[in-house]
Amino acid sequence: MKKVGRLVKRERIKTLKKSLFVNLLFLSVVMVLLFGALMSTILYYSGVNNAYAVIHNKNQAATNYIQGNFTPLRSAVQFLAQKPEVIYAVEDPLLQKEKALSLFEILKNSLPNINYIYSGYEDGTLLINDYSPPKGYDPRKRPWYLAALKTAPDISGGIPYREAKTSEWLVSFSKVLTDDTDNIYGVIAIDSSMDAVTKILSERDPAYSSSYSFVVDGEGTVIIHHREDLLGKEFKKIVDTEDDFSRSAGRTGYIFEQRSKIAYHTRLESLGWIVVTVVDKYEILKFLIVKILLSIAVVIAVSLLVGQFISRTLSNNIIAPLRTLEQRVKAAISGSSQTDYHDPTNPPSVSRYNEIDSIANAIEELTERALFRKNQELETKNELLEKLSQTDYLTGLLNRRKIYEDLEKEYQRAMRYGGTFSIIIFDIDWFKSINDTYGHDAGDQVIKEVADIFRSMLRTTDSLARWGGEEFLILCPGTTLEGSAAIAQKIQAAIGENRFSVPRKLTISAGTCEYNSSLSLEDLLIAADRKLYEAKSRGRNRVVF
Ligand code: GH3
Ligand code: MG
Ligand code: MG
Repeated sequence: MKKVGRLVKRERIKTLKKSLFVNLLFLSVVMVLLFGALMSTILYYSGVNNAYAVIHNKNQAATNYIQGNFTPLRSAVQFLAQKPEVIYAVEDPLLQKEKALSLFEILKNSLPNINYIYSGYEDGTLLINDYSPPKGYDPRKRPWYLAALKTAPDISGGIPYREAKTSEWLVSFSKVLTDDTDNIYGVIAIDSSMDAVTKILSERDPAYSSSYSFVVDGEGTVIIHHREDLLGKEFKKIVDTEDDFSRSAGRTGYIFEQRSKIAYHTRLESLGWIVVTVVDKYEILKFLIVKILLSIAVVIAVSLLVGQFISRTLSNNIIAPLRTLEQRVKAAISGSSQTDYHDPTNPPSVSRYNEIDSIANAIEELTERALFRKNQELETKNELLEKLSQTDYLTGLLNRRKIYEDLEKEYQRAMRYGGTFSIIIFDIDWFKSINDTYGHDAGDQVIKEVADIFRSMLRTTDSLARWGGEEFLILCPGTTLEGSAAIAQKIQAAIGENRFSVPRKLTISAGTCEYNSSLSLEDLLIAADRKLYEAKSRGRNRVVF
């Protein structure tokens, strides 16, 4: 049973520690989750904003570059389209043609990014410096020519096409050549290689490797893109977007080839182009996820350290003192020798003295007091019990069991150390008739009165017991047969003279014998009984020894 109790208590303390641990763990998990959610939100927005800031800058750089690169070309086309030597070069070749070609040369040399300046005419003539067109070349069928006719009288805004001989990608600005009456003579065009622009626009940002820029013209055609297969395609058809890019600039987004992109676009009003800079959303999220996981790992590490610290502190200050308390309470209950936990020579297992120790002290003290009281009660009860077990209930004299023990002791003492003792057995004469005449209760009363007389006449060394119904036995240590006979006779006389509660004189008979090493205790008792019997048979009211 004790073992079971112990196990239960251990279990409880384990549970306390466990529940502390579980609660701390729960708290940590909640904190990590909250922190994770908060961090994720903050990092997501700051990451997305940062990405937008990066692509915004990139977009502006691209826009500036394109503007710087292509606006002068447009202006040059505009300028050349007004020049009579260009308009009438075929009409008046002797006067104008050379002038036109030298103007082309001057302009080409003054603008670094011009590949070709040329004009085509309605009669199929091509006017160009340092270039001999392939066989069967017809300028009127070339894209730049057709584009200019289409947008006439405006400048056609940058048609990408492959150069007929070198197959390099070129972007051309072209414009119809007309006189005052809007007669079309031909088309003036300036080509610029897209390679340099495309290279610059496709340059990846060190922060976002998936970022690049491209250009869509006023009709929604992709005109500058590092992927040649997309050139000339309609932007709306290759991406999935809600935005119509009508704003002059702003954030946007779309899905291209199943990849979500975030983008920034700027409309270049002078060229009618839209410069778009994009970055893969996945790349932003990838960085974010790495950052968030790192932050969560740091939080977990920190909370583990904090948890360890808290649990150590709790363990030292609560669980360990509780264990000590348990031990001390158990020790106090079992009454085993307890340790003084505040003895400097015997320090407690707990690192500090705290409230739990003082509770332990209080419990110990309480337990001790309760135990002391209980012990006292028990002792009193035991004494009473012992007394009851040795006492005759009616007379308060020793009972037969107790006097027999005393007799045995006395007999052993006499046997071992010598010396003597005597026994007297008394029996009230004709007692039956008292019962018969006055009733049993009156008989009891008489027995008590006889006992009182015995008690009052006895020496302190003698032991007196109620031996049977109305028989008494006196053990007289160190007393010879004569001595005991004298005592018996004195008592016999006292009883004979006494007035009892019943109106009758009472007599008593006694038999006495002295210790004799040749007789056993039983023999001695039998001998005393025989003397008593003799006293009875010799007429009662006498002592026989
Ligand atoms: P005698 O001893 O002189 O031969 O005659 P007696 O009448 O005293 O005979 P005995 O000693 O044999 O009988 C004792 C009687 O005492 C028997 C019983 O009724 C009575 N007695 C024994 N114990 C008690 C007791 O505790 N109370 C009362 N009232 N009577 C008792
Ligand atoms: Mg009797
Ligand atoms: Mg009798």
